[in-house]
Amino acid sequence: MRLALFGPPGAGKGTQAKRLARDHDLTHLSTGDLFRAAIRERTPLGLKVASLLEAGELVPDDVTNGIVADRLAQIDYGSFVLDGFPRTVPQAEWLLDHLAANDAPLDAVVSLVVPDEDVVGRLSRRRTDPETGAIYHLDFNPPPADVDPETLVHRPDDQPEAIRHRLEVYHEETAPVEAYLREHVRYHEIDGTGSLAEVQARVTDVLVEDRGLAGI
Ligand code: ADP
Ligand code: ADP
Repeated sequence: MRLALFGPPGAGKGTQAKRLARDHDLTHLSTGDLFRAAIRERTPLGLKVASLLEAGELVPDDVTNGIVADRLAQIDYGSFVLDGFPRTVPQAEWLLDHLAANDAPLDAVVSLVVPDEDVVGRLSRRRTDPETGAIYHLDFNPPPADVDPETLVHRPDDQPEAIRHRLEVYHEETAPVEAYLREHVRYHEIDGTGSLAEVQARVTDVLVEDRGLAGI
């Protein structure tokens, strides 16, 4: 299935995308992860986008669409879950056109609805493992005992000022994408609060209702 998860920063897109990818054999395609890998590897793309990520600004649409196009071609437009893309109306328009041109239409969007207050608490206590890509939360999803806390990263854009800015960017540039998606693709909104497992069950339920378990 070809799926996109939508929602504010900290909604749980990465967490749920990883679970969907693992359980249903989908490729997890996170634009944020692709940018962070480029920054770590100091590629020309990484050098271009590093200061934007640190400040919580969006990377320009043409650059972002370009890396998504590359990854989609690499997986032959097969089964995937997009996480953090599209984030602007032009990205959404480009994505639907690009997928249609490759006979690979998007099957569904699942939007995780989480209030801003919760998002701030989630992001400020998020820690990630750069080796495995695992996403933890110091209170709600703490790292297991065999993970050395020293190896975990507190992302620079998860500091209070950048979090505030990312939420502003979300409300200005990303929230309007909802209306576009509702008009053009199957769009399911679910409550993104509650435990990680509860949210996962809601995601699976709407997809099963939409497509049947075999169709995920
Ligand atoms: P996004 O990719 O949308 O930014 P993440 O999946 O990285 O979101 O989650 C943001 C933070 O919130 C992480 O620290 C994660 O462990 C935590 N988190 C994810 N889902 C939940 C949940 N249902 N309840 C509480 N915290 C959660
Ligand atoms: P979040 O936890 O906010 O969902 P992501 O890992 O998805 O974070 O994104 C981190 C940063 O990468 C964003 O703040 C932005 O700078 C850049 N980025 C990721 N996806 C996109 C996108 N679709 N368009 C523009 N910039 C993006």
